Amino acid sequence: MVDEKYISRIVESVIQNIDVVADKNLKGVFDTMEEALEAVSKAYVQYKSYTVEQREKMIAEIRRLTLEEAEEMAKLGVEETGMGRVSDKIIKHQLVANKTPGTEDLEPKVKTGDQGLTLVEMAPFGVIGSITPSTNPSETVICNSIGMIAGGNAVVFNPHPNAKNIANYAVDLVNRGILAAGGPENLVVSVKNPTMETSNIMVKSPLVRMLVATGGPGVVKMLLSSGKKAIGAGAGNPPVIVDDTADIEKAASDIVKGSSFDNNLPCIAEKECFVLNSVADELIAGMQKSGAYLLKGADVDRLLKVALVEKDGKFGINKKWVGKDARLFLKELGIDADPRLIICETDEMHPFVQVEMMMPILPIVRVANIEDAIMMAVKAEHGNRHSAHIHSKNVDRLTAFARAVETTIFVKNAPSYAGIGAGGEGHTTFTIAGPTGEGLTSARSFTRQRRCVMADGLHIV
Ligand code: NAD
Repeated sequence: MVDEKYISRIVESVIQNIDVVADKNLKGVFDTMEEALEAVSKAYVQYKSYTVEQREKMIAEIRRLTLEEAEEMAKLGVEETGMGRVSDKIIKHQLVANKTPGTEDLEPKVKTGDQGLTLVEMAPFGVIGSITPSTNPSETVICNSIGMIAGGNAVVFNPHPNAKNIANYAVDLVNRGILAAGGPENLVVSVKNPTMETSNIMVKSPLVRMLVATGGPGVVKMLLSSGKKAIGAGAGNPPVIVDDTADIEKAASDIVKGSSFDNNLPCIAEKECFVLNSVADELIAGMQKSGAYLLKGADVDRLLKVALVEKDGKFGINKKWVGKDARLFLKELGIDADPRLIICETDEMHPFVQVEMMMPILPIVRVANIEDAIMMAVKAEHGNRHSAHIHSKNVDRLTAFARAVETTIFVKNAPSYAGIGAGGEGHTTFTIAGPTGEGLTSARSFTRQRRCVMADGLHIV
């Protein structure tokens, strides 16, 4: 009889080898974390002598390559992770290329007076260790790389193991951009097979001066107990409120667009909706007109059993279904339809409302008044202080909700993605640091202030 463990060891080794072959010639991608750390540390020393103009040339090239290869990366990302939509992932890459700030984000401060001149400059931390998620794998690598190298840093990534190939494709792209613009080798590095062990080596290495984590609560907690300067971009569960002063047709269309974007993977996407009773029917009809499928009765309970798993009376996500197309959920229920989003009516405490699902399923809760809507929305956001959205023309209500929910991103009368610069003003980022307070990170978040003083001189008044 053949030993099962032996077979599974062979299968594992074949899979690992396929992975290694897949990213054999990728620039900046190393066999071990130790090698990656050594290479990136050398690169950082070289990078110190580069001018800001040279940094900008490298970033311009990364932007160009990202636009050129956006479709390729979108396809690879969906293929490897089995999550999201190719067309939306193309837009995400374009957003990163066009709206991630570069060196213009760094603003030195000057103070002059009777006692001379003092200059405060935004200096690099050095080598930054970054942990990236499976939901925006290449987008986060490119966005982090642009901001971090704009700030004069070098970067070592430990990507999510389930998205290592696409993340490492992005590491290679960034290096190709850097080299084409005359930059140093291995300024941005990663490992072929990222694991918890490689992550630990990176976090503990004295060569790494700052840590950045984009992901769920586990990784943020781990990073914040590392003893190093850390930026934590954690989970969200963004509510959206619709009141009776809103343009209901527009609200319906905006919510379907935002909530279904990349199959609800973005941490900022609308994940539960609270609507005033008086406009609920109109909103639901509007959402159906905008491409949502209304699920009712026992089918909602059946969908719950597909999307979530119950353990000790608590619900969690069924990971197999994260970021899948709405049509696949419906197919599982025996329904043949291909909408962008599934909507259903639930009560406030339904797991669809309380759990961050990252699936194209939007629960809708009817409420009697705005006070109840705000109270329930704040509760559903779970104190993440990440993102919240509202459709209303009443300024007092907009303000009341913003004050109560205290989120990093607050979008009024637009799809959620307006909050990261898609159809809204402001820059983009895929690392939204609520827990540690940097907000929508950019080059300046990855710098440290240094003061340079010259007493008695060098001012002209
Ligand atoms: P995840 O938490 O499973 O993984 C994120 C990264 O952390 C991966 O590289 C993973 O390997 C690592 N990791 C996970 N747990 C760890 C632990 N205990 N110790 C060390 N490393 C650990 O997240 P995901 O499923 O890839 O992404 C989705 C989650 O990330 C959602 O909760 C979403 O809201 C959040 N997210 C937040 C932002 C933001 O900007 N705030 C952006 C994207 C995603």
